[in-house]
Amino acid sequence: MSEFSLIDIIRRRCTSSRSDVVLGIGDDAALVEVPPGCELAVCTDTLVAGIHFPLGTTAFDIGWKSLAVNLSDLAAMGATPAWAVLALTLPTDDVQFVAGFADGFAALARMHKVALIGGDTTQGPLCISVTVHGLVPRGQAMRRDGARPGDLVFVSGTLGDAAAGLQYVSGHLRGQDSDLLKQRLNRPEPRVAGGLALRGLASACIDVSDGLVADLGHVAKASGVAIEIDRWKLPTSFALQSCCTSALRTQLQLSGGDDYELAFTVPAEKIDAMNDALAGVDCAITCIGRVVEGEGVRVVDSDGNEISTLHGGWEHFS
Ligand code: ADP
Ligand code: MG
Repeated sequence: MSEFSLIDIIRRRCTSSRSDVVLGIGDDAALVEVPPGCELAVCTDTLVAGIHFPLGTTAFDIGWKSLAVNLSDLAAMGATPAWAVLALTLPTDDVQFVAGFADGFAALARMHKVALIGGDTTQGPLCISVTVHGLVPRGQAMRRDGARPGDLVFVSGTLGDAAAGLQYVSGHLRGQDSDLLKQRLNRPEPRVAGGLALRGLASACIDVSDGLVADLGHVAKASGVAIEIDRWKLPTSFALQSCCTSALRTQLQLSGGDDYELAFTVPAEKIDAMNDALAGVDCAITCIGRVVEGEGVRVVDSDGNEISTLHGGWEHFS
């Protein structure tokens, strides 16, 4: 099977009808039309086999997740997803894998009207690098540096589920009812609609991919503030609650990775408008703390004692 036959398998599965794609897959570069008054939000995330997904993960889930983690970054910026580029490194010309991968990628791409407009296909250890492009009205992207003392801190969805799912997949946790947790690990659902609704309301926003404390640490640093989190307010699914001790649960929620939820700060006077904006969107949120003066992230328990987190979150090379 040639490189070009593999590209064709992907291209046939990832069709889209976006009228702003002037030239898609097939030439030296794609051409797209950026609407006037918009900025382009661009980001890349790479998935390496055995590091970003366990080795037994299905091709469909790998395809889905490789796009999902990128759409999560666009969601955090408040950008509308538009186009994607896919750099695929494969150990062999495994047609079944490529077809399954492309089906997973296409399933999520269709949900968010993302067009796959190009990429690169090479041989080597399994590695997937996706670049996505999103559109945001000029000057309106949600950045990490806008949090101010007095703002409240929110997170979407529930935390720690994917990290628990990984514990099941790797055999560290046992029991029934792990399907939802594994689903959260393998098929993250990027909070695109939530991110769009928060534009103009959140003072800062980030997606939680490396662990809540680590990611809110980036917001605190960029904004020059400190963030206080109330441990007992962390949103918890029934599945997580029933699968492990509260100590492990807290650890997974604070430092586990792969949540792909939005963590954001909102000035007190915009809370009502935020609730209105989110009312029509399938994106539950929970207030988990506040922005104060100082630096870093503190997690406190209901007795006021500070909780020490074992490690801040996932970091390569550390
Ligand atoms: P070039 O040699 O000019 O870089 P390639 O032969 O690598 O072009 O790719 C041919 C066409 O197929 C290009 O338009 C490229 O964007 C597209 N393409 C290659 N690999 C992929 C992929 N994995 N997914 C989507 N498009 C791809
Ligand atoms: Mg090339």
